[in-house]
Amino acid sequence: MKYNSPVNELLEEYRPVWALLYSSSVMRWDLETYMPRAGADARGRALADITMMVQSRIISMKPLIERGKASKGLTDVEKGVVRVLGRRLNYYERVPPTLIEELQRTTTKSRIAWREAKEKSDFKLFRPHLEKVLSLKMKEGERLAGGGDPYDALLDQGEEGLSSRDLDSIFGSLIPSLKKILSKVLKNGEPPSSHKLEKSGYDEPSIIAANAGVIQVLGMPNDRFRVDLSAHPFTSGMDVDDVRITTRFKDRDFRTTLYATIHESGHALYELQVDRDLRSTPIGHGVSSGFHESQSRFWENMVGRSREFVKKLTPVIHKMLEFTKRYDSDELYRYANLVRPSLIRVDADEITYNLHIALRYRIEKLLFEEKVKVAEIPQIWSDTIEELLGVKPKDDSTGSLQDIHWSSGGFASFPNYTVGNVIAGMCWEAISRKREFSAVINEGGVDELKKWLGSNIHRYGGTYAPRELQRRVFNKVNDTGGLIRYLETKYLKF
Ligand code: MG
Repeated sequence: MKYNSPVNELLEEYRPVWALLYSSSVMRWDLETYMPRAGADARGRALADITMMVQSRIISMKPLIERGKASKGLTDVEKGVVRVLGRRLNYYERVPPTLIEELQRTTTKSRIAWREAKEKSDFKLFRPHLEKVLSLKMKEGERLAGGGDPYDALLDQGEEGLSSRDLDSIFGSLIPSLKKILSKVLKNGEPPSSHKLEKSGYDEPSIIAANAGVIQVLGMPNDRFRVDLSAHPFTSGMDVDDVRITTRFKDRDFRTTLYATIHESGHALYELQVDRDLRSTPIGHGVSSGFHESQSRFWENMVGRSREFVKKLTPVIHKMLEFTKRYDSDELYRYANLVRPSLIRVDADEITYNLHIALRYRIEKLLFEEKVKVAEIPQIWSDTIEELLGVKPKDDSTGSLQDIHWSSGGFASFPNYTVGNVIAGMCWEAISRKREFSAVINEGGVDELKKWLGSNIHRYGGTYAPRELQRRVFNKVNDTGGLIRYLETKYLKF
């Protein structure tokens, strides 16, 4: 592809950065999948060195980036390249390397402390570490905000343009609607809150075969995509022709594995359908964490947990997991959609999931506004989850110690999950405008959905900022109406 100056020069200078990022992506994937455990130390050092190389190369691109910003008549792709590199440069210019290093060191220690505290279910063991991480993240936010709001500055890192004003309005509309839907579902008892299949065990070869069957139903391309196992499922988009996911399994409740596979495949499809002209450029990947999560949640929930898709999966499930044979597709559909308010976010159903995020968002805001102290987190957690979901944790490990995020400095990242669900709802609504969604799945199948997402969202990669992309696709931004209507349509006459 031909580009105007100075974007042409920028992309030439970017090539080695791309190669470094590509290498670290392969290294990270390997670290989580096949590497012998003792190799972690050397891998950590090598990855840190690569990060420093990327940083200094981006900083050296400043004059070209400045010229790009001042250029008139750039195409949308060229503007995207300048925008994304400008954001990275801004980060490195505002956040000093000493702070980045200190964050790295502190979070490595605090992750270990978190693991121990969680095992012993004792928040006090984690508290001093979390206090340090929080104060460093506040410093990072202050640096980035340059006089603005530090929490908003951190939000903007994961989801360009997102602010707590947006989130207040998103949760303000979601919380009452979700509570209303939840109470109706619980009153009706449909879908049920538990199922016998949750207790049914399976063996490893069967679940691997079942996962392979799901991948086939989704039509994932064999020569550009692969699946492995890791402790926590994730997706690695190394190149448009090399996208990998991982999944995991326990020994029972097979839906958790299959839906983790579908979720990650949703992330993978985004990466697989980015325009090939954008490969090796700074905009060759999905645009933001919120948009990425929208794609995984769309496939996991709107598609994967639909009656029509479960019907398509049923022969695979019956064949690979023989103990399911006495359950027909309607019964498997109910099993896939159990609803119950629970303490644990990662086990949450579609209705209660965003209430778990509302809880974390509320606490993060109070911390950043210095209205509460770290020591008060367990109490606030307990009070707020009771208010939102009507359940109360008995201990810290099922309360405020359940997620790894804060120990790694992941403040202002939970809200992206809800933004993702909101955008997934907007996709559902846009796709079902002309025909009911069930008809789209029945008649067009996964191919029609892939095509729609590919041509409206995926192909652009990072060309447009997430808000701009939302405006182009949906004509509105962060509108919760789609998600609420989707949940009402599905659950109020289940
Ligand atoms: Mg995800």
